[in-house]
Amino acid sequence: MKVKSIRTHVLEAALSQPFAYSRAWYDTRMAMLVEIETDDGLVGWGECYGPARMTEAAVKTMSRWLIGADPLQTDVLWRRIYADLRDHGQKGVVIEGLSGIDIALWDIKGKHFGVPVHQLLGGAVRQEVQAYATGLYRRKSGDPLRYLAEEAAGYASEGFKAVKLKVGFGVEEDAAVTRAVREAIGPRIALMVDANHAYDAVAAIRLGRMIEQHDIGWFEEPVPPEDITGYRTVRAALSIPIAGGECEYTRFGFRELLASQALDILQPDTCAAGGLSECKKIADMAEAFDVRYNPHVWGTGIALAASLQLLAVLPPHTPHSLSPLEPMLEFDRTEHPIRQAILKTPIEHKNGIVSVPTGAGLGVDIDREALARWGAR
Ligand code: CA
Repeated sequence: MKVKSIRTHVLEAALSQPFAYSRAWYDTRMAMLVEIETDDGLVGWGECYGPARMTEAAVKTMSRWLIGADPLQTDVLWRRIYADLRDHGQKGVVIEGLSGIDIALWDIKGKHFGVPVHQLLGGAVRQEVQAYATGLYRRKSGDPLRYLAEEAAGYASEGFKAVKLKVGFGVEEDAAVTRAVREAIGPRIALMVDANHAYDAVAAIRLGRMIEQHDIGWFEEPVPPEDITGYRTVRAALSIPIAGGECEYTRFGFRELLASQALDILQPDTCAAGGLSECKKIADMAEAFDVRYNPHVWGTGIALAASLQLLAVLPPHTPHSLSPLEPMLEFDRTEHPIRQAILKTPIEHKNGIVSVPTGAGLGVDIDREALARWGAR
């Protein structure tokens, strides 16, 4: 079996209402999908996180290493592409492009052997994953104290056991909305906060001390990803677990984070940090360092499926307990017209629980009409 062709699909959809996190407004959602076809007719799908036109260029550049190659040689191909681009792309767009390719190769591998990817990654520890609701972004109008509390209560009534709030809009305001959301969801729903590295260590510690009383599950990206010392300072100052890693790449990048003891929870993005091959290795490293792993997920149904295949095989966070704490799926609840539309069978939650796809490969069927509908010009 040989790789015959690689196609990229840049998709774009306008949003009905813009929304903001701490550093930017969104008014469209984009996606960059990778489609790899073999000479015996198998098709594998992957997705790249990151700026779509740039990851598309990276994937197109990498196709010369792939045409004619054996798609089952996932580690061999990964190392070859990484080594050839090492001088220019140890992090960022190059690795995001490689991630989408690697995921598509795993989809092919699963389809070739007729089994879901999680079986090839070592076997499922779980068939269902607890999801947490990612939402609680800012809107153009209205009082955030009110609309964020209402939105959070909505997730709780849908059955989610955990929600994540966007902070990074100023320490006082963050503290006020955190309190409002905690009051809206009550004491039994887990509440995490995410600053998208809007702060420095001084501001992050100040916010952390103001919200510690609200039983915060984790404080995500308090400081910029390069500031490992800042992470360590924040972690040492607060009782809240510190999470991050969606802007880190490969086993080599995560080696530094783990060795620095900068984080309590690692959040590699499967579509960015190097794909399924690399994220399994990062997860094994996290286990060796006794650091929790909860993947970052921000994409279409392909990103969800790839993340669920990995989540199926991750060890529990507390493996020696009779009621172990399990890794969670980040389930983006913001508007994304493309997210489920490209799947013939959407990946949805029931009472905050999402099933791991059991079909061959990633376990998803792609709706080509949806690809045509959302294709970016
Ligand atoms: Ca985040």
